[in-house]
Amino acid sequence: MASLVDNLVKIVGDQHVSDEEAVLIPYSRDQHWPFVVPKRPAVIVRPISTEEIQEIVKFANQNKIPVVPLSRGVNVRGLCTPAKDGSILLDMRRMNKILEINHDMMTATIQPGVTHGQVAIAVRKYGMRPCIPGAPATGSLLANYLLRGVYHTNAGDGIDHVCSAEFVLPDGRILKTGAVAFPNAPPHFRFTCSPDFVGLFQSMPGSMAICTEMTVKLYPLPEAEAFIGIGFNSIEEAIKPVPQLMWNKIPALLWILPQYTIIKLFARSRKDLESMRGSFPEWTIPIVIEGHQKIVDAKKELALEIINKTSSPLNKANAIPLPEEQAREFKYPRNIFGFLREGSYHALAFLGPLYQYPKYVPMMKELGVKAGYEAKNVDLLNAPIAGFWGQACYYEAEVPYTSADPKSVEMVKNFHYAVLKKLITKEYHIYGWFRPFLNPMKLIINELGTYGEIWHKIMKLIDPNEIMNPGKVFPEEKELTW
Ligand SMILES: Cc1cc2nc3c(=O)[nH]c(=O)nc-3n(C[C@H](O)[C@H](O)[C@H](O)COP(=O)(O)OP(=O)(O)OC[C@H]3O[C@@H](n4cnc5c(N)ncnc54)[C@H](O)[C@@H]3O)c2cc1C
Repeated sequence: MASLVDNLVKIVGDQHVSDEEAVLIPYSRDQHWPFVVPKRPAVIVRPISTEEIQEIVKFANQNKIPVVPLSRGVNVRGLCTPAKDGSILLDMRRMNKILEINHDMMTATIQPGVTHGQVAIAVRKYGMRPCIPGAPATGSLLANYLLRGVYHTNAGDGIDHVCSAEFVLPDGRILKTGAVAFPNAPPHFRFTCSPDFVGLFQSMPGSMAICTEMTVKLYPLPEAEAFIGIGFNSIEEAIKPVPQLMWNKIPALLWILPQYTIIKLFARSRKDLESMRGSFPEWTIPIVIEGHQKIVDAKKELALEIINKTSSPLNKANAIPLPEEQAREFKYPRNIFGFLREGSYHALAFLGPLYQYPKYVPMMKELGVKAGYEAKNVDLLNAPIAGFWGQACYYEAEVPYTSADPKSVEMVKNFHYAVLKKLITKEYHIYGWFRPFLNPMKLIINELGTYGEIWHKIMKLIDPNEIMNPGKVFPEEKELTW
């Protein structure tokens, strides 16, 4: 009988299939390995077209072989780590073409392997940009928009940038969603006369289908910009101006950052992490305003009025010319890897309302201290999400840890687990996890009621043989993997 490799070679050619150990090992885990158990795929396959993907999944479906899609593999949280033995890792990095840039419609149609950076460079000459996450520019824009992210531009444009998309279903059929579902419609609009199916495949991508093409929104490059930085002594005071700033759609970017987070962004060496303590306010809100010069001027005036009326900043709020390097760091953070100066990157991320921020901070610090951290090293940063209905914010809890040190790993796990358990209690009102990996899902999966039942049934309907990254959303083992 032909082997798994032989069958895949027939579809993509022998250059693009491998089951060699040295090739498979990097696919078996990511930096989140203390939290997501590493598992080696049986084989990796690198298709070049939708047709090849159709053939691969048809074969996998007939033989009930799990398939794990990967677009660029900048994944964190073990998202591309197989949950089951014997999986095919579908690496789509070769599918890296921008198929169309339409400046009239303000859209680009892209393949999975196209990076954030690639799109930003390609559309710049038309005076446009994609919505850019504060992430390595080598990530896949398509995968990021499937995951729905946190963005450092266009806070006013929300967290969803998909117009329409093409998916390969587990039986090899093509499903077109968004306007393209409608006969002969162009791909530049999301909503047609049918239910919105794009959302069905977002948040937990790769658990029902493989996206092979996506038409995404583009945004104008701003003609002008202004920067406002305000410092506060307390979190209670810092959050006061935010609702009015958001509801008036003033910021292109707004973060609420504790002092230590700012230090991590600007430190140039490990030594700076301690020596820079005390050089920034306890809480800082950087705001970037962008757009037409007249709009920027008006928004800046209104922003200062709102801040000075609703809160007591350390200094009266003012628009300050920030050194270009620092302003860029807030807009397109590249020194984000500065976070790694403390060791390994760990972030517990969730979505919740702004008004709970003053409650989250002491809870995290208390649980951090119980886990063995100094309170000053336990941080929780916040980014309000456009359009801010329900005061929706992205929260990211950070504590230092080093994956090479078992004691440090134990501490971070204890902290992480204690916070997860606390956050799902009624008192804390969180909206959900951000890009959950298996352990957070295990804590809530039995509590989802009818929603969970219907979700599970839809998955079964689309993927009856459960080949799409099985065990990723609905874990078979309820035990936590630590
Ligand atoms: C240091 C760092 C900071 C980051 N900061 C941010 C941030 O501020 N904001 C933000 O939004 N993101 C952030 N990210 C995430 C990053 O931008 C990537 O988008 C994300 O990690 C996904 O990586 P990827 O694009 O390579 O997708 P992959 O790693 O290839 O895939 C991610 C997930 O999508 C699934 N998937 C991939 N391709 C497909 C497909 N074609 N069809 C169906 N399912 C698919 C995979 O199975 C996996 O579950 C950060 C990442 C790092 C490393």
